Amino acid sequence: MSVSRRNFFKYIGVAGLGAMLPGAAKAAEAGEELVTLLDLSKCVACGACVDACRDANQNKYPEPIKPYPVMHPQDRVPVADWSDKRNVDDRLTPYNWLFIQTATGTWQGRDFEINIPRRCLHCQNPPCANLCPWGAASKQVNGIVRINDKICLGGSKCKSVCPWHIPERQTGVGLYLNLLPSLAGNGVMYKCDRCWNRIAEGKIPACIEACPFEVQTIGPRSEIVTAAHDLAVATNGFIYGEHENGGTNTLYVSPIPFDVLNEAIETGPGRPHLGPAPDPFAFEDKLALAVYAAPVAGLAAGLLHVARSMNQDEKEEKHEGK
Ligand code: SF4
Ligand code: SF4
Ligand code: SF4
Repeated sequence: MSVSRRNFFKYIGVAGLGAMLPGAAKAAEAGEELVTLLDLSKCVACGACVDACRDANQNKYPEPIKPYPVMHPQDRVPVADWSDKRNVDDRLTPYNWLFIQTATGTWQGRDFEINIPRRCLHCQNPPCANLCPWGAASKQVNGIVRINDKICLGGSKCKSVCPWHIPERQTGVGLYLNLLPSLAGNGVMYKCDRCWNRIAEGKIPACIEACPFEVQTIGPRSEIVTAAHDLAVATNGFIYGEHENGGTNTLYVSPIPFDVLNEAIETGPGRPHLGPAPDPFAFEDKLALAVYAAPVAGLAAGLLHVARSMNQDEKEEKHEGK
């Protein structure tokens, strides 16, 4: 059985595309998280989703202030500047939260070409959020993992603990400029936020809406996991994301095994792998983690207060300047 975006909603008993609102409501009512399913057999690498992501989210992209403060000691946290390379679309950057990886090769005597939309997987137990020292990264009840650009200091902890090293830093923007411009993290981290604001308005993410081939489906976890398994059985396919890193809210289904795809793609900075990703918290001392996180919550609240105060000051200054 092939599950498309439209017939998926028929499949779960909801009609049409605007169906994401009932789907999201259904997920919320059931206390479930939202999951995306990507049928990789359908992606033709047209890039419509990448363009749509940029259009929908460009107001969230960084507008850095130059020249950048010099860090002490110099190069402790290197400058990461993508502001003059905003058009780069073959890897993840602060200005490109989604890109298409293409894997070509031969498997079981057959040539293959598989195109893979890549972005944050929105983990069920996200180390980026659990281990952010400032509480800037967090997971919403609907499963979306976001980084608050008003709190993030750009220290890259989220990137180093993410099994796919997804978040990307832009220097010259954010709270560190006002707090400790020469000592703090040197920017803000950016990644896919699953179009949280569109979801909150009852819309589907821009990349899903724009795809002419209905590669992606979104809905409540229990429904999407079932649909992914049905699709994998119907196509003799393979699933990635269900168990990786302890489980993610992004499920890829491919007719080619993921270890073969992983060998066939270019990986490195901004280009995540498709290999094994063990759950870093599987053997973690949960109590130790709680103790670690507790003082951070207070610190994060303090930072949030500072950020809000500064926003308010800016507004008042603008008001007075009128
Ligand atoms: S894929 Fe990485 S950045 Fe995304 S939620 Fe998981 S740990 Fe965080
Ligand atoms: S869900 Fe939204 S932010 Fe994430 S890749 Fe798709 S369009 Fe971009
Ligand atoms: S819009 Fe659809 S077919 Fe085109 S690259 Fe994106 S996922 Fe693939």
